[in-house]
Amino acid sequence: MKEQHFLKRGILGLSAVCAALVLMGTTPAEAKGPLTTEAKTAVVQKDALTEARINVVLKEAYEKFKNDQNGKNADYIKALAIVDSKMFGITLVTPDGKVYEIGDTKEVVSIQSISKVFTAALVMQEKGDKFMQEKIGVNATGLAFNSIIAIELHGGSASNPFVNAGAIQATSWVEAKDSKERWAKIYANMDDFAGKKLGFNEEVYDSEVNDNKNNQAISKILDARGRMGSDPLEATTVYTKQCSVNVSAHDLGLMASTLANHGVNPKTGKKVLDSKYVPKILAVMATAGLYDNAGDWLYLTGTPAKSGVGGGILAVVPGKLGIGVVSPPLDKFGNSVRGQEAAAYIIEKLGINPLAQ
Ligand code: GLU
Repeated sequence: MKEQHFLKRGILGLSAVCAALVLMGTTPAEAKGPLTTEAKTAVVQKDALTEARINVVLKEAYEKFKNDQNGKNADYIKALAIVDSKMFGITLVTPDGKVYEIGDTKEVVSIQSISKVFTAALVMQEKGDKFMQEKIGVNATGLAFNSIIAIELHGGSASNPFVNAGAIQATSWVEAKDSKERWAKIYANMDDFAGKKLGFNEEVYDSEVNDNKNNQAISKILDARGRMGSDPLEATTVYTKQCSVNVSAHDLGLMASTLANHGVNPKTGKKVLDSKYVPKILAVMATAGLYDNAGDWLYLTGTPAKSGVGGGILAVVPGKLGIGVVSPPLDKFGNSVRGQEAAAYIIEKLGINPLAQ
């Protein structure tokens, strides 16, 4: 009772301050003076996602990081080395489908590891979250994304669907009569998350498919451990195809917003993933989305995210924002340098760290 009374008084007090400020022609966010700490927090949170505020923060992020030359394109897949390193685009999409963007947001890169999110989502949709946990795993490996030794160290398990082992495994479990149908389903599922037909990067595919022996070896080991749902080499080829799909910052922003919007694409209105699986996918993104830097990223932003060696990154602030950034130069962990900088800045400045709500 007492608490409710104080709460009521607090709210009345805050609205009185706001009303007075409006009369004075001042918005609460500009106010100086007698606001208590609680009132200030309330004002910042209330202002956090206005259109004007998002546009200001987006522009700031772009200007602040556009000239950062740190990092280097991936080159272990030869076609990635020649992608324009200057490319930098940021797209933000709210769950009601409003799009805010700046820079090269229509330029495409290959999606690479970010595709793992959507194939894992498809497997969860078809087989349930228990299957994901028991058959593939949801723990970090603490080792490189393409590690073979990680499989041995974890009793023949891939550990999670975002390292190559778990991703190839997930691909193999998509229900289909053959690999052609499996690929068609995986591709269509990514299209649904993006709300459009995504392009395919033949050059990246050719470059990788002729050079993916490490992934082939991973698939064979998992097969020997009884973990694959279909032929291992066929699954590796389908996995290589899914990594070669083209995405822009705009596409990634929409894909992220579908997750931020509980599995419904805000542009098309299509339900792409059952809402009960969205927190499960986000949990794996929080654990293992940014390779060996996932812990530092979560510590900094509190936000589930996934990057790919093509230079894309998406971050999901549940119920609030989907963030997509493309910038090819990567740090030593394989994450886009400017992608992380821009996304972290936006989350911080908008005050939307999900763990701080
Ligand atoms: N296709 C890449 C590979 O299998 C994806 C790696 C990534 O983006 O992390 O090595």
